[in-house]
Amino acid sequence: MSDVHQNTPVKLPKNTSPMRVVDVVVVGGGVVGKACALGLAQLGLQTIQIAPDLDQTIPAPQGTEWGQRIYAFSPSTQKLLAQLQLWDALDQGRMQPVRDMRIFGDRGEKHDQLHLSAFEAGTPQLAWIGESNIIEHTLDQASRFQNKLERITGVVERIEVDSTEAILHLNNGATLQAQLVIAADGANSPIRTELGISIKEESYSQSAVVANWKCTHAHLETAYQWFLSGGDIVAMLPLPNKQVSMVWSTSPENAADLLKLDQAAWSQRFSSIANGAIIDQLGTLTLNSMPAAFPLRRIQASRFIGPEVNPKVVLIGDSAHVMHPLAGQGLNLGLRDVATLLHILGKRESFRMLNDKVLLRRYERQRQGDTSALLWVTDKLKKLFSASSGTEKQLRNWGLGMVNRSHFIKRRLIERALGDIDFE
Ligand SMILES: Cc1cc2nc3c(=O)[nH]c(=O)nc-3n(C[C@H](O)[C@H](O)[C@H](O)COP(=O)(O)OP(=O)(O)OC[C@H]3O[C@@H](n4cnc5c(N)ncnc54)[C@H](O)[C@@H]3O)c2cc1C
Repeated sequence: MSDVHQNTPVKLPKNTSPMRVVDVVVVGGGVVGKACALGLAQLGLQTIQIAPDLDQTIPAPQGTEWGQRIYAFSPSTQKLLAQLQLWDALDQGRMQPVRDMRIFGDRGEKHDQLHLSAFEAGTPQLAWIGESNIIEHTLDQASRFQNKLERITGVVERIEVDSTEAILHLNNGATLQAQLVIAADGANSPIRTELGISIKEESYSQSAVVANWKCTHAHLETAYQWFLSGGDIVAMLPLPNKQVSMVWSTSPENAADLLKLDQAAWSQRFSSIANGAIIDQLGTLTLNSMPAAFPLRRIQASRFIGPEVNPKVVLIGDSAHVMHPLAGQGLNLGLRDVATLLHILGKRESFRMLNDKVLLRRYERQRQGDTSALLWVTDKLKKLFSASSGTEKQLRNWGLGMVNRSHFIKRRLIERALGDIDFE
């Protein structure tokens, strides 16, 4: 045995550990990696999770300060968190259910609007808006008490794969041998690169500026999104206590300017866009967090398992796909990877190893379909609303109104937003 303690993230001393043998290793300490590691351990698999930041304590969010990283959690995410026994442990006072979504075109006319409603869809809510830290804190707490899960603070430097297993070399000289490696190592996934899995990548030449605001009008539990002429997209997502979380996708130059605005300049900016509709809807907006900007791109890995011959590695989360945040689905999609993987491994026939090709191909087949569909929709929406010709403008605004009148299309859109997946 090495000197790694069960369940507490520790830094290993250099070059002293013999090879450890476990069932599964999860590489990455984001929400997707944490949820996957916990779920695998709950299946009874001896699991090690490795990431450089696992020793950092994520405090439970509290008080009037709201975290910078705010997500829309879809019902598929709620289902997974409930399965991991976490949903009921989340502070529901910091989770805002979304009952309606209103998406507006760039002509500023009232009927250029798509309205999706939980009531019409026969569901209590379309999504929840909450802080990333609320999920991460709860995942960390649950992981500490899961005796099949061991967390190591470190970095994977190299991976070797042969016909029976994968071997990981860590930055401290330690080596780990596992039947299966889960790469949850983010958009720049070093494991994906090392395995030679190619990606389709496109920069949107946009950044997302995020900030939280207090508003004087009630947000009516509604998520608003305005497509502005010129290609900017402003989303205002409802938070508890008369607050909203903004995601403003814009050119990198405008993003840099927005980050420099003071409160008065922000108010002026809001009144000058979308024909003043943002202010009309939400009232006076007062900044309640430091704005921050993230570059936006689209990535899709050509394969979700690798290497091609004798796969022993599964890609999940941003290592497999990255999308524009206009649909607020990136993390949800990653957590659907986790749900599918847990389902396939949990239901595997007793004669199959964890890295059985049949299981891994089943995972890849299921996840590539969901991912391609969502990437296609978000990409096409983004491009349709960036197009500047008069005809395209006319078409997209007219299209919003038309979709709004079609119960069939709205139903399909809501199903996508809810993210329900059918397991094979
Ligand atoms: C502005 C913006 C708004 C968004 N809003 C939403 C939203 O509303 N809803 C939604 O669902 N999604 C949203 N997303 C997407 C979401 O943020 C990502 O999809 C999600 O955070 C990806 O999580 P992950 O765990 O896959 O990757 P990451 O969070 O990037 O985690 C990767 C981990 O891997 C570790 N790592 C990397 N290399 C190594 C190595 N060699 N060894 C060990 N560890 C390693 C890193 O340290 C890190 O811990 C948004 C994104 C942006 C930019």
